Amino acid sequence: MHTPEGPRQVDVHVAGGVITSVGNDLAPAGASTVDATGMYVLPGAIDVHVHSRDPGFPQKEDFATLTAAAAAGGVTTVIDMPNTVPAVDADGVLESKAALARAKARVDYGLWGLVRSTTKAAELEGLAAAGAIGFKAYLGYAFSLGHKQVQYSLNLEDPDYADLLASRPAEAEAVAIAAAAEIAGASGVRLHVAHLSSAPGLAAAQEAIRAGAPLSLETCPHYLWLCDEDYGRVGTAMKIFPPVRGARDRDALVDGLRKGTITIVATDHAPHTDEEKAAAFGDAPAGSPGVQTLYISSLELASRMGDVWLAPRWVSEAPAALTGLQGSKGTIAPGYDADLVIVDPNQPTRVRPEIMRSKQRHSALDGMEFGFTVREVYLRGSVVAGGRRGRVAGRLVRPARR
Ligand SMILES: [Zn+2]
Repeated sequence: MHTPEGPRQVDVHVAGGVITSVGNDLAPAGASTVDATGMYVLPGAIDVHVHSRDPGFPQKEDFATLTAAAAAGGVTTVIDMPNTVPAVDADGVLESKAALARAKARVDYGLWGLVRSTTKAAELEGLAAAGAIGFKAYLGYAFSLGHKQVQYSLNLEDPDYADLLASRPAEAEAVAIAAAAEIAGASGVRLHVAHLSSAPGLAAAQEAIRAGAPLSLETCPHYLWLCDEDYGRVGTAMKIFPPVRGARDRDALVDGLRKGTITIVATDHAPHTDEEKAAAFGDAPAGSPGVQTLYISSLELASRMGDVWLAPRWVSEAPAALTGLQGSKGTIAPGYDADLVIVDPNQPTRVRPEIMRSKQRHSALDGMEFGFTVREVYLRGSVVAGGRRGRVAGRLVRPARR
């Protein structure tokens, strides 16, 4: 089991949805027990970057299917991005989105708020009071053009993968990170960089961190497992913004994770319909589902680095600290929510459409095999995947204010 003291073979006792003790021979007479001998017991993952599409795009995804996919993959908390419709730019919108999610969610959920160039301080305070985890600012993203931007910006009839890379160069990521870090450093605002995708972006972030900027970094499984050469095999499931770049970018990001410069792996789970993604490269929208394969792909990567126990740090412990949930989630210790994932380390999982629980079945990692299988998942002590489901429902998580 993964504990703050490292891996240990111990019992965990749960009552009232909370871990009450961790030690040996904890089962009191009459307690119900789960034998996880030979398995890993890990803290539930917190995916800090998902797009539920709910409300707004029910044909793509909703909170029920998002959280079913999350639960199946050992993700017990999702933090949803604010670009739903209406956008989460005011306390009232956040409250109604939280109420909508409450009726559907199988795992816990937090909500990011949206900050625009026109947002007033009072509006941010309202969002924070309503429970926003933090605020998302889009840098240089032509929001209204959406996925058509590749064609518009290049004015091409039939763009290919090299055109897409040319339209979104890594240098732009580096410049954006440097500028945002400077503003964060000057204003004392904590800055989290979402979906870091390139070696120049990582270098710019490292430079800013060295200069004292309060910066944290997240990357995604598709940037750690794929490069441009995979496009021919994977197809439009790999069309994601920022784009999956070259092998050198991929290797630099893996190295940044190994060294601890990048602390968080999140998925940018962003479903479009299987039909939309079956369009020609230039027309297919950017984004793909990913939440279900976060834990197994991270365990595989960590195990190849020689320390499988790094994975729960990337997907649970560091995300809890980022989102202000470190008092209740991200760790297996007394007082924490009993969000527990039982993983079989001797049973590989092949990613394929039939196992996907999202409303969409495509995946950028389709066909890959990871040496782990999620067996059973508990949210606050009740089964949410892999067994007879308990009577627990997902609820809104709010950050502890610092
Ligand atoms: Zn995103």
